[in-house]
Amino acid sequence: MNYGNNEEIKKRMAELSAILKQANYEYYNLDNPSLTDQEYDKYLRELIVLEEKYPEFSDPNSPTKRVGGEAIDKFVKVKHKIPMISLADVFNEEEIYDFTNRIKNAGFKPEYVCELKIDGLGVSLHYEHGKLIFAATRGDGVIGEDITHNVKTIKTVPLDLKRDIDIEVRGEIYMNKATLEKLNQERERNGESKLQNVRNAAAGSIRQLDPKIAAKRHLDTWIYHLPNPLDYGIKTHKEAMDFMAELGFKVNPASRLVKDEKGIMEYIKEYAAKRSELPYEIDGIVIKVNNIAMQQELGSTVKYPRWAVAYKFPAEEVLTKLKDIKFTVGRTGQITPNAVLEPVLVMGSTISRATLHNEDYCRELDLRIGDIVSIKKAGDVIPEVVEPKLERRTGAEIPFQMIKNCPICGSLLVKKGNVDYFCVNDDCPKKNIAGLIHYASRKAMNIDGLGEEIIEDFYNEGFLKTIPDFYTLKEHREEIIALEGYGNKKVSNLLLAIEESKSNSVERLIFGLGIRGIGAKNAKILASTYKNMANLREATYEDLTSIRDIGEVLAQNIVNYFRVPSNIELLETLENKGINMNYIGNEIASNALITDKKFVITGTISFMSREEIKELLENYGGKTVDSVSKNTDVVIVGEAPGSKYDKAKSLGIEIWDEPKFKEIVDSL
Ligand code: NAD
Repeated sequence: MNYGNNEEIKKRMAELSAILKQANYEYYNLDNPSLTDQEYDKYLRELIVLEEKYPEFSDPNSPTKRVGGEAIDKFVKVKHKIPMISLADVFNEEEIYDFTNRIKNAGFKPEYVCELKIDGLGVSLHYEHGKLIFAATRGDGVIGEDITHNVKTIKTVPLDLKRDIDIEVRGEIYMNKATLEKLNQERERNGESKLQNVRNAAAGSIRQLDPKIAAKRHLDTWIYHLPNPLDYGIKTHKEAMDFMAELGFKVNPASRLVKDEKGIMEYIKEYAAKRSELPYEIDGIVIKVNNIAMQQELGSTVKYPRWAVAYKFPAEEVLTKLKDIKFTVGRTGQITPNAVLEPVLVMGSTISRATLHNEDYCRELDLRIGDIVSIKKAGDVIPEVVEPKLERRTGAEIPFQMIKNCPICGSLLVKKGNVDYFCVNDDCPKKNIAGLIHYASRKAMNIDGLGEEIIEDFYNEGFLKTIPDFYTLKEHREEIIALEGYGNKKVSNLLLAIEESKSNSVERLIFGLGIRGIGAKNAKILASTYKNMANLREATYEDLTSIRDIGEVLAQNIVNYFRVPSNIELLETLENKGINMNYIGNEIASNALITDKKFVITGTISFMSREEIKELLENYGGKTVDSVSKNTDVVIVGEAPGSKYDKAKSLGIEIWDEPKFKEIVDSL
């Protein structure tokens, strides 16, 4: 997210702090949140990032520094001798590696215990001479609420332990999925509102003054933490779990000791699949360092232990705001409505657009601009709007309206079939726009900041109709700045990026021209073979087909392209505008160890960046791919490698560690 000056940053931080404080109050004190957990997590992460970047604006009472909610006055307050802290969240494999690498970099060789992250509320149970004395909620981590009267109604909380000892244990109070369903049916019959989820239902039940209500709610517990293990001679978390089970506590049998990251990933995968079959809700996996001495050396921050993290399962659905609906014209002329969304993180990537398919889809959902909508990523890639949240409507939303004219050329749209509208104007400039987008794209001229929307805007304003117009955009500088959303700085950066792109090596231009079938790789082969555009223009069909990788069809396409007078004119105009027409990169050399081989890189190589390694391999005719399979030839393994390393070993693939890779690089 981009902020302007310091005032704007401060304002945003105060705003986030206020949103989070209100959300905490609703979640922990009222057990009735109005934000989803994903919305809450998104705001919290934004504030954490801002506080790290601008510590001078950070509020000492910020929600990032506090655990949970506050103890309510109606209960007796209890001070926790050892604070009940929360767990830092991680959302993907990379963040799990960050966690394990931090521990290993501190000189430890840890083993881990993976556990289910039960979606309920934390509880602390105190026993003296084996008898339950009191039970407390986490509260703000230091002061909790005495809920002994209600906890005694939970059948799985032992009132007497199997041994006569003094002990504190901690765990989660939760409600089974089926119990919530039954309870909600009953509430519906009684005309009461439904409880939102198991966590709020459990928290609401345990914080009743009348224990008869809690007793009827059929709550349950899983115990997972022993705050004073050394008092009982216990050296590992696993031993602590066994010890607590022996005393009579309900300890979740799914916890597992794992040796390394591979074990962690397998556990996550296994329980992500089993999750829906469990009778209770889990919202993630907790990963804990097993060795207690190691835990104690690693210590904690005010809010989180450094020896454990909670991996949160990606939400299947995430809420965000529908800011606008924009219509795009496809290559065939088909019109598609698209949701313009407030950017939101879904399964690890930020989504700001989603397809709305067609008019019927929008009407059936009764979508309105300004709605809070739930979105999900179908099949992992294409984001989709699932539905508007009717309860979040304010009345200011604007109903969906289908357009009648092409958003690009203005001609009347034609309905073909039952649902789809088309622009049937053969002269519609949509193709031109697609060509301009391709020209500026990352693998082509790589003009930083010139995305699809900006190109469309400039096209519609008349500043950018053909490729040479990129280089005269500077003449429209003032007009561009006058458009909404184009600040002085943004426009300067854009114009600078255009100027800089003029000196690209010629393969980018070759690719950017959009010659049929010529991808970035072939463009590079052509550039390195012919050295400049003039030579490529003169290349004959026979010449071209003699090049490795250029087949008959591609050769013919290239020859045809240079036969068209308007294409030659375009190239001459570009040359006159100062666009480089020469090959600057290295020639594609050949090396028995690299040429035609498939490589995967994992971990950090100290003497070269990933991009440099990729380029080097490409220059020798090698290819880098993202994932390891039996078709991979070599895996280059640097410091702190990912799971790809383990996979490569298990498949018996050749591995180059840093010294070996260095030796090969030096020999080139
Ligand atoms: P958390 O739920 O992310 O994780 C920490 C808690 O996990 C522990 O305190 C413990 O109670 C529980 N836990 C479950 N199984 C465990 C296990 N096996 N081992 C150890 N602990 C286990 O942290 P939190 O501080 O309770 O809550 C923060 C989260 O609550 C946020 O990330 C957000 O998703 C949600 N929240 C939502 C809103 C909202 O408005 N929707 C408001 C506040 C908080």
